[in-house]
Amino acid sequence: MILRRFFILIAALLFAQTAGAEPLAKQLFGAQKAGSTQKAAAFGSYSRGCAAGSVQLPETGPTWQAMRLSRNRNWGHPEAIDYVQNLSRFAAKQPGWNGLYIGDISQPRGGPMTSGHRSHQLGLDIDIWMLPGDNMRLSRSARENISSISLRRANGAYVNGNWTKQHHAVLRAAAKDKRVARIFVFPGAKVQMCNDEKGNKAYLRKIRPWWGHHYHFHVRLNCPRGSKGCVNQDPPPKGDGCAEAQQWVQNILNPPPPDPNAPAPKKRREYVLADLPQQCAAVLQSN
Ligand SMILES: [Zn+2]
Repeated sequence: MILRRFFILIAALLFAQTAGAEPLAKQLFGAQKAGSTQKAAAFGSYSRGCAAGSVQLPETGPTWQAMRLSRNRNWGHPEAIDYVQNLSRFAAKQPGWNGLYIGDISQPRGGPMTSGHRSHQLGLDIDIWMLPGDNMRLSRSARENISSISLRRANGAYVNGNWTKQHHAVLRAAAKDKRVARIFVFPGAKVQMCNDEKGNKAYLRKIRPWWGHHYHFHVRLNCPRGSKGCVNQDPPPKGDGCAEAQQWVQNILNPPPPDPNAPAPKKRREYVLADLPQQCAAVLQSN
């Protein structure tokens, strides 16, 4: 089996060479159907790496549903899968919620994706829908077809009428888990939470205003303990970040004039296998 996989990979590489183009990492990783039979590990960084020994979030659980099953992105580090299940049990206790709808985690072996995200490459990023989980027995086709809901208005400066106390409670519980490094959500939601939080605000430090993220929020876990070769992001700035989020909102409402000295945006090159940590070749070759 190992040999067979190895030869398929070599054949693919040779074919691509003679065809004059190296295969893109996203094609190699996008073609994987199952996790590698290796010890669970994350190699590289959230936007340039891969995942060994990923496990699949069961499609259906008592308090969660994996959505968009056709994408086959319900794979992650065992810690990420445990995190999702744990948070979903908390969510299920909220009035009007029976659990969580889970969007993309990672491809079976992580790595760059053929569509949709730049991060989510380590099995440690999780998208969680804003639509309160109601039916925990959705059909496959329902999971393809139902849509989440947006919680924003005014381009993300404010929350809209879909925002509830329960969203606040779920996001707070999501952030308080020690395994979490950051949570990305639109700026208006962070400011709303800053204004409404009556208890300790320390956890708000991890809730980071970001573009998009009004149909789902994005949880990023720290590199698991003892995982060599997994590169953490710098921790968020000290403090609750509420003033920064408020500034972000002001900039949405009154966009500052463009900076004439701003550097031109860099065009990102698509990664080939050699751009990823060297362990990623073994992740592809593994059974
Ligand atoms: Zn995401």
